[in-house]
Amino acid sequence: MTVHSLRGFRDLLPPDSERFASIEATAREVFSFYGYRELRIPTIEMKELFVKSTGETTDIVEKEMYAFTDGGGREVAVRPEGTPGVVRAYIEQNLSQSGRNAKFYYIGNMFRAERPQAGRFREFEQIGAEHIGNASPFADAETITMLLKLLERAGLPDCTVDLNSLGCAECRGNYRQTLLAYLRGCSEKLCEPCRIRIERNPLRALDCKIDGPRLAQEAPKLRLCPDCSAHFARVQELLRLSGADFRVNPGLVRGLDYYTRTVFEVRSGSLGSQDAVCGGGRYDDLVKSMGGPAAPAIGWALGVDRLAMLLKDKSAPGGAPAVFVIAAAKEAGNKSFELLGALRAGGVSADFSDFGLSLKSQMRSADKSGAAFALLIGDAELKDGTVTVKPLKEKGEQMSLAFYGMAPILKELLKKVK
Ligand code: ATP
Ligand code: MG
Repeated sequence: MTVHSLRGFRDLLPPDSERFASIEATAREVFSFYGYRELRIPTIEMKELFVKSTGETTDIVEKEMYAFTDGGGREVAVRPEGTPGVVRAYIEQNLSQSGRNAKFYYIGNMFRAERPQAGRFREFEQIGAEHIGNASPFADAETITMLLKLLERAGLPDCTVDLNSLGCAECRGNYRQTLLAYLRGCSEKLCEPCRIRIERNPLRALDCKIDGPRLAQEAPKLRLCPDCSAHFARVQELLRLSGADFRVNPGLVRGLDYYTRTVFEVRSGSLGSQDAVCGGGRYDDLVKSMGGPAAPAIGWALGVDRLAMLLKDKSAPGGAPAVFVIAAAKEAGNKSFELLGALRAGGVSADFSDFGLSLKSQMRSADKSGAAFALLIGDAELKDGTVTVKPLKEKGEQMSLAFYGMAPILKELLKKVK
C-alpha cells in the first residue's frame, strides 16, 4: 500500500515552487519600501481566537476550520487566516507601545476545510499586510496602492480594485434591523443555510455564494453615517490622486465579521469562479474587542496560489544552472569536482550528473538541465590544464579555456546567451 497526499493538499513542484518564491521575494521588497516589517505568527492558536475575531457565524469558523482538542485538552485550531494571530500578537507583545509604526506583513500557509476545486485548496498560501493604529484615510489609500504596486511588480498590471464601505458599528446596527426585516419577508427565496444564519447575522446572506449576487441588487442598501461617508469619500479621492484603478461596488460584503468602513477585493476574470486574488479592509474595533487598546487598523490578504495561476504564462521558469560539468574520461572525476567548486565559489551556478557515467549519458543530462554551456574535462584537458566549453543553447564553436580563472570569462560569455 502506498501512502498518498490528502485531498486539497498538494505538492508544489518546480517551476511552481519557484514562481511562489519569486512572488514572495517581490512582496518582501515592496513591503520594505512601505515601512512594513515581517511578523511570523504560530500556525496553531486557541480555537477561541478565531471564533471571537473571524466570527462565529462566518463560513470559515462554522464550516472550514481544522479544529481539534490537543493532548492537553485544549481546543485549538490550525489558522484559517492571518489577521487574528497578528492582532493577538500585537496585544500580547505590547506592540502598540514600541513607539514604532505598527505595520506588519506575514507570509504563510492557511488551512480551510472547503471543497477542493481549481484555485481552492485546503492548504494555501497568503501574503498579508496589517497596519494597526492608524484611522486616517491615508492609511487606506496607502495599503491599497501598495497592494497594486505588489501585483504590478509581480507581473499582474492593470488590476481593478472593488471598493465599498461597510460603515461603523452604528451604521451597521441600524442596517441590520432593516436588512433582517427584509430578509425575513423573503426567506422562502433564500438558500437553507441563509434562512438560519440571517437570524444571527443578516449580513452573511449578502456574502452568500448562492443568494449574495441577487441580494446585492435587490436588498435595501447600507446608509453610511456622515463620518463614515466622509471617510469613504476621502479614500476615493486619495486613490484617484494616486492613479489607482478602482470601482465602487455597493454589493461587496466581505465574509469575515470584523470589517468596518473600507473593504476591498481584487478579482481577475481569468480565474473563473474562484476569481478573488486578494481581499481586505478596515477593522477599527477588532483590537479593542480582543482585549487590546483602541487601535483602528486596516489590512489585506493575497492568495498566492491564485496569483501564481494568473502568472503562469507570464513568468519564465527558473532553476537551470548556467553551466553543466562533464567528466569525459574516467580519471577526470576529481578535477571535474574541483571545477564545480571553483565555479560556484566564483559566482557561476553549476551542476553535474554522475562523473562515472558515459560521455553520452552525461551530455544528455546536460541538455536536459537547460544549462547554457557544457564544460568537459577529458584526457587532453587533464594533460594541458584546460576545460572545453561547448555551447548547448546556441550554435557556436566550442572553445578551450584555462582551468584556473574561468569564472569571470564564463560570466562574460553567459551575458551574451539569451
Ligand atoms: P473566496 O470568496 O474565494 O472563498 P475568501 O473571501 O474566503 O475568498 P479571504 O479570506 O478574503 O478569501 O482570503 C484572501 C485570499 O486568499 C482570497 O482572495 C484568495 O485569493 C485566497 N484564498 C482564500 N481561500 C482560499 C483557498 N481555499 N484556496 C486558495 N486560495 C484561497
Ligand atoms: Mg472562502
